[in-house]
Amino acid sequence: AAKLQGKNRLRRFDASMSSAALDMLTLESELWKALERNEIELYYQPLLQVAKQQALGVEALLRWKSPRYGLISPDRFIPIAEENGFIVKLGEWVLQEASRQCKRWMERGYEGSISVNVSSKQLMLANFAGCVLRILEESGLPSDRLCLEVTESTALLDVDHTREQLSLLTEQGVTIALDDFGKGFSSLSVLNELPFEQIKVDRSFIQHILDRPKNLATVKAIIQLAHSFGGVTVAEGIETPEQLELLKQLHCDYIQGYYFARPQPASEAERYLGLERK
Ligand code: C2E
Ligand code: MG
Ligand code: MG
Ligand code: MG
Repeated sequence: AAKLQGKNRLRRFDASMSSAALDMLTLESELWKALERNEIELYYQPLLQVAKQQALGVEALLRWKSPRYGLISPDRFIPIAEENGFIVKLGEWVLQEASRQCKRWMERGYEGSISVNVSSKQLMLANFAGCVLRILEESGLPSDRLCLEVTESTALLDVDHTREQLSLLTEQGVTIALDDFGKGFSSLSVLNELPFEQIKVDRSFIQHILDRPKNLATVKAIIQLAHSFGGVTVAEGIETPEQLELLKQLHCDYIQGYYFARPQPASEAERYLGLERK
């Protein structure tokens, strides 16, 4: 019976795969062209201090505006780019673009940082840290203005390599954030082993923080833990004033969410950075 079930499962899997694979093939060939055609751009979402609601930084988020398929979410095309290796080139482009943008803002008085998401394929490169430092040098952005966001599953792929690469970067002043914390199969060793300064509490916990006591308890524990490690916390996905109030009470340091600002093009994100027309 087990064998039969296995066989059925396999068949069902195959059927759903073929359409997914087709989809993937189209997107894959389109992705390569998209970057050259300037269809890919960065949006920016501020991370605000809970107390003063001042911007600590902005997170750069990829957007693909395809004339053929419309707006494609990064959740859809990043897994494909990871699969076909294009993420390495794309990730370098994101770092360059975000660093240049932050440098321009800095020249206009911006005092915050820029956060960039890093995929596992990038982090696993033998010379990942060297690549990041080279891009920083080329853009003229001081390294203490850059924060790299890494997820737990990425960080844990090869802890020794991750520790080595991230340490090379923190030595130069780059901040490392642990993104989507709590979402995966969290291992506390990740906090012990690696040089994270910032912990971003996954949106799924924030979403139900008011109606699920366990979520509240978890967020509270994460914030206390981060502080005891000398780190800071960011709550992702704040959508209501009630959520904000609660996080304030829990002494969360920073917040990010639609309640304050959605990710938006550079020119619009500037409104949150205190750069309004000088
Ligand atoms: P992430 O790094 O965890 O980014 C936060 C996501 O939450 C963003 O989705 C953001 O738009 C969304 N968000 C922020 N506030 C709220 C809120 O209040 N409510 C809700 N419902 N959502 C909120 P987005 O831009 O679609 O990006 C999705 C994911 O794609 C990112 O999650 C990140 O993992 C990945 N990604 C985006 N840009 C890049 C990139 O340049 N490189 C890599 N490797 N991954 C990226
Ligand atoms: Mg992120
Ligand atoms: Mg996140
Ligand atoms: Mg995420």
